[in-house]
Amino acid sequence: MNEATLSDQDGRYLRRAIELSAHGRSRGNRPFGAVIVGDDGQVLAEAWCNTAETGDCTGHAETNAVREASSRHGRDTLARATIYSSGEPCVMCAGAIFWSNIRRVVFGIDAVSLRAFRGERADQRDAQLSCRDVLNASPHPVEVIGPALVQEASQPHVGAWRT
Ligand SMILES: [Zn+2]
Repeated sequence: MNEATLSDQDGRYLRRAIELSAHGRSRGNRPFGAVIVGDDGQVLAEAWCNTAETGDCTGHAETNAVREASSRHGRDTLARATIYSSGEPCVMCAGAIFWSNIRRVVFGIDAVSLRAFRGERADQRDAQLSCRDVLNASPHPVEVIGPALVQEASQPHVGAWRT
């Protein structure tokens, strides 16, 4: 898959999501981070994967960010927002993005490349459905941009998964 070319603004926020992925890892979690930004540049939510900290298997970065943003901001604001994710959203997170009414997704490392880090352990495998597969089924259009900055987004995954 070819890497997407990002605007300066998109690159800045995706790098922030990558920083949050490393932060989450430093707290003992899988390295995933997400940022939701309004069309005026306001950061609406920042989150990392906290499944290990909380014991909640739904604590993925994007779902956590959606939970925070949607409890504070209206659907109209979220319709003009972008979610930046250090890794391609999984099926659950793509569903959360759909329900939030966010219409634009920018992600770093793609799910196929992530599988190389996850390895073959059954409890580390993801469902093999891309976020585009899920979001293309939405009745309203959701723009998906990625993979992007794959080299940078991969760094927090090096050595993070036991295979
Ligand atoms: Zn997820």
